[in-house]
Amino acid sequence: MTESFVCPLCEMESFHPKDVQYGYCGNCHAFTGGAAAVELPEGRFGYVNLITFGRAQIVLGDETTATDRYTYEGVMEAIAAMVLWKALDCKGEPEGWIRHQPSNRRRTHGDPAKEYVRP
Ligand SMILES: [Zn+2]
Repeated sequence: MTESFVCPLCEMESFHPKDVQYGYCGNCHAFTGGAAAVELPEGRFGYVNLITFGRAQIVLGDETTATDRYTYEGVMEAIAAMVLWKALDCKGEPEGWIRHQPSNRRRTHGDPAKEYVRP
């Protein structure tokens, strides 16, 4: 039997072995399953979204709205931060991000001691 991955966001089904292995959706350009995705209380969830310039975001939200977007310098940084955050039972915020939206807080090299706000 062929394994497949069905994206929880767009419900597109993929049979590509790598998509199945990593929970990657080519339609969303995001890791919406597997180690880089998480179900949160109250129907919320989180996943890793690929954006421009090789960067990636941890996106938190519900079915209709993304409430938080944490930007990382690379996709591996975002996935590692998600895995760590899950290991900490999703307490507080993920670590290592360089920008949070919608607050527009920024952290130089992801350092919490170097946080500032720039729209
Ligand atoms: Zn999708």
